[in-house]
Amino acid sequence: MAGVSISSEAGPSAATKPDAKKNKKKGGPIAATKLEDSVIEEFKFILAQIDNYDGQGLADLITKYDIRNPDTGNPVTAPAMFNLMFESSIGPSGNLKGYLRPETAQGQFVNFSRLLEFNNQKMPFASAMVGRSFRNEIAPRQGLLRVREFTMAEVEHYVDPENKDHPRFSEVAHIELPLLPSQVQLEGKSTPIMMRIGDAVASGTVDNQTLGYFLARIYLYLMAVGIKHELLRFRQHLPNEMAHYATDCWDAEIKTSHGWIECVGCADRSAYDLTKHATYTKEKLCVRESYPEPLVTVKLVCETNSKVFGPKLKRAAKPVEEYLKLLPETDLTAIQSKLSKDGKATVVLSGTAADGEYEITPDMVTIETRTITEHVREYTPNVIEPSFGIGRILYSLLEHSFNVRTGDEQRSFFSFKPAVAPFKCLVLP
Ligand code: AMP
Repeated sequence: MAGVSISSEAGPSAATKPDAKKNKKKGGPIAATKLEDSVIEEFKFILAQIDNYDGQGLADLITKYDIRNPDTGNPVTAPAMFNLMFESSIGPSGNLKGYLRPETAQGQFVNFSRLLEFNNQKMPFASAMVGRSFRNEIAPRQGLLRVREFTMAEVEHYVDPENKDHPRFSEVAHIELPLLPSQVQLEGKSTPIMMRIGDAVASGTVDNQTLGYFLARIYLYLMAVGIKHELLRFRQHLPNEMAHYATDCWDAEIKTSHGWIECVGCADRSAYDLTKHATYTKEKLCVRESYPEPLVTVKLVCETNSKVFGPKLKRAAKPVEEYLKLLPETDLTAIQSKLSKDGKATVVLSGTAADGEYEITPDMVTIETRTITEHVREYTPNVIEPSFGIGRILYSLLEHSFNVRTGDEQRSFFSFKPAVAPFKCLVLP
């Protein structure tokens, strides 16, 4: 999850209208006003894509519609960035900074190599964890729905980035899910489309089979515990809302008396987490698979002459060497012809610790075509992650299971499925 969030001091009220200024009573609640149909349509259009607004976009909405705290009539501040992670200090001196985990996921990723070993180096496989997570929410409220400490259950399913098919997808392909794709939201609509998950993957609405498989499994789980079908939808993240590294992301949202609530997130996190942990810890977090037949390729490669390369480039030698090794063939060919024509070539590094221009001479490198035989394929798996907020699911379930006897409102009861509540219980005065 992102370490920062955007928030305003009080939630925006869609009930305020553009000329609400005239109605507001300073220091008192905003009186409810009947809105024109056209204004209602305008608000519905904005709300359907509200998660696509960035901080400035939300600030503009607040100003445009003079959005105020509906209980007090007080103005709200513009959204500001803040850290959603709880900072703490470690050890008696307190000099070492620590952060409470905002999700269980990272604890699983750092153990990736060990988990792969437990699975006999075989892909695909998954790890799962249930535990407490902590987030510095600015406005914890609505009972279990927004709290600073909550229970999460997360599955990290590791897949080959070149093949995200799921071996058991055919078992769920027929299941119809209420999907709200991003395109529909951007058109200002919020009615889900019933679609077979098999069709959603085939049409590219859902990015891949493994993601689709887990969306179907989340659906089956929520149905099994007793969530009402008509009060469930799967909403795709909008372009601005999706984490920059995610390939695709859907939230299972459940309707409660507090509106639609995200209860399970399901994202394709690509190779982002494993790559970042590997870079910062300098430990490889990847899969090594033997090719059935050795892979023979003919490639243009660049090798450095360490006796000259190191002493000439000094501290920049390593980053320049890495840059040359990763260059596409066309760029290497250009350097090769510059070296033979001009006796030198310039390499420009940017976005590294050694940014700048460096001169390469023919004695420093050998660029030539080689036949390379590879026996092992090395890759960083991609991760598909269903992430369940247990408190939110439980709260929604309590609302969906609560009943009142018609004509006898005093007698209310919960009707849970036996899977959730296997014992009969009666509470008497
Ligand atoms: P996220 O990593 O933000 O997608 O969160 C994963 C899941 O954790 C969500 O789908 C929610 O069910 C749950 N969750 C997130 N924040 C909170 C919170 N403040 N209080 C309770 N549950 C939360």
